[in-house]
Amino acid sequence: MVHLTNVKIRGIERECLDTIKEGAKSVHPREFIALLSVGDDKSIISEIVMLPQMMSGKRHATFNIYMAPIDFSIVGTVHSHPSGNPTPSDEDLISFSKNGIVHIIIGYPYEDDTWRAYDYNGKEIELEVID
Ligand SMILES: [Zn+2]
Repeated sequence: MVHLTNVKIRGIERECLDTIKEGAKSVHPREFIALLSVGDDKSIISEIVMLPQMMSGKRHATFNIYMAPIDFSIVGTVHSHPSGNPTPSDEDLISFSKNGIVHIIIGYPYEDDTWRAYDYNGKEIELEVID
């Protein structure tokens, strides 16, 4: 994980958001979890990266971003809240502070209006959806 504190993430590609929605739906009522990766311009999230240890499907699966392959394009995490409430838990806030600069939580039913993005402090941030 590279230090990306001076990198500003401004958006997420529509296709990537759709992948997250589909992923969350496919494992519901278990929790979906993946890493977020930016494209060449380093400001738009364009891909998610799934790690084998994230596939356990346990509630609040924990992972360490340092187990990820060396990939400097990884900027944060995404996970689902099958409860429907996209507010970070205390556990999430600890994980956010350690694992990157942008974090998405998508709540059931995993649609365009049920996700939120947060920075490493757990403060809600705006991400533009790029078509
Ligand atoms: Zn959570």
